[in-house]
Amino acid sequence: MTQINELNRYSRQELIKGWDQKKLEESLVTIVGSDVLAQYIVIPLVALGVGSMRLIDSGVAQRDMFLDFELRGKSRVKSLEQKLAEINPNVRVNGLNTDLISDASQYFLEKSDLVIDATNNPRSKALCLDYCVETNTPLIVTSCMEGFGKLRNYNDEGRDVVLLFPEFYAHFQDEFISMVLGGIVAEETKKILMKDMEPLKNPVYYNLLNADRFTYKINGQAKPRELGEFNDKKVLMIGAGALGSFAGLGLAHLGVGQIDIMDFDVVEDTNLNRQILYYDAVGQEKARALAEKLKNVGRGFIKTNAIIDKFTPKTKLKLKYDLILDCVDNFVTRAMINEYAAKNKIPLISGGTDYRAGQAAVYVPGKTSCMDCQLNIREHAKKAEQRARQSCVLAPQPSVIMSNQVIGGLMVNEVKTVLNPAKYGEPVNGVLKYTSDLDFRLGYNPIKKVCNCYSQRLKIIGGGKK
Ligand SMILES: [Zn+2]
Repeated sequence: MTQINELNRYSRQELIKGWDQKKLEESLVTIVGSDVLAQYIVIPLVALGVGSMRLIDSGVAQRDMFLDFELRGKSRVKSLEQKLAEINPNVRVNGLNTDLISDASQYFLEKSDLVIDATNNPRSKALCLDYCVETNTPLIVTSCMEGFGKLRNYNDEGRDVVLLFPEFYAHFQDEFISMVLGGIVAEETKKILMKDMEPLKNPVYYNLLNADRFTYKINGQAKPRELGEFNDKKVLMIGAGALGSFAGLGLAHLGVGQIDIMDFDVVEDTNLNRQILYYDAVGQEKARALAEKLKNVGRGFIKTNAIIDKFTPKTKLKLKYDLILDCVDNFVTRAMINEYAAKNKIPLISGGTDYRAGQAAVYVPGKTSCMDCQLNIREHAKKAEQRARQSCVLAPQPSVIMSNQVIGGLMVNEVKTVLNPAKYGEPVNGVLKYTSDLDFRLGYNPIKKVCNCYSQRLKIIGGGKK
């Protein structure tokens, strides 16, 4: 393994104006819960470099396979403690293998700069709330179930029943909803610890049971995923950076039978603040490292394949894929992928991020518009090419884990709707947005239009050029 220079670990997030790494390093965050939602909160916080974390839960895992390690049969907080130390050895994680109990909760929560309750248990939330009201400690509460989840920031409203989330009690947590909510919780955590802006005022809802996605209104009952449901599906993911790490992890957890990963890049130590699956892979090719990790997550039920290459107009794909995921970091390649998908009538889910926001959009031939019509990518690509011509050195861009985790999660949830709409409902036709500093963190712009770009007819009329 190539040596990691620890000075480089946080360098990409330290490029962000006003970023205070020291503040993160000095903080103690307590997370109550160790189920999948808590896991998707602690992971980004470890990657960010929050100095001390306390995990409280007595859960023993029955079925969990999280990153590439099995939690089964052991105390979940203790298993997590070990794995998180590998992901970032600079962070102290202390797992308390117990539940919060009313007589002693103040001892378990003491000295926290922030408490996060990620259980589906209103009693646990009540104890956290009591402690945080008493001691004036910031609190974030979040819960989720199949297809639906929400989170709130405690804003001095006192002991309020709306913070207890009783509707989630005894429901299983949904790992794909968790990925999205966990990323948002991590962003809010960073803000609270760095005291760098107004706290979240509105509750966040994420709802795969409603065409609007981010409303509280639930239509019907979510249908649970069945084992092997996506086993006959083949998906190509292009781009294995931060966004691809999360999207790929989601594909593996969905049980997509064949996952091919195209990327030409090599893991560097400046990637470690956000590309959580490469903690032991610095110096290796990303596509190969990710294929290996995802195969472990799939426990022998999925095939993965690394394609060490760049996507270009000359690319000829060997398989007939059911879906392409675009996780690339530039509009020039994104425009090429869109053209390929539209010409060959392959569904495409496209995601893009910067350090404070991101978006995801879905293209299904005949059902939605192509990416050009949704995201203006050819326009963006032209501008990017102009910029590249003007400056000969590309400066490193600031980047963090949170927006990538949120957008990766939004993409994976739409994978379910694209591959099985009869069960999960239709995919969105419009752009899903996450913006870390807008009043409503999640937003959806529907376009209600089906375009005809790159169609056979247009090609004939336009003389084959388009
Ligand atoms: Zn179009």
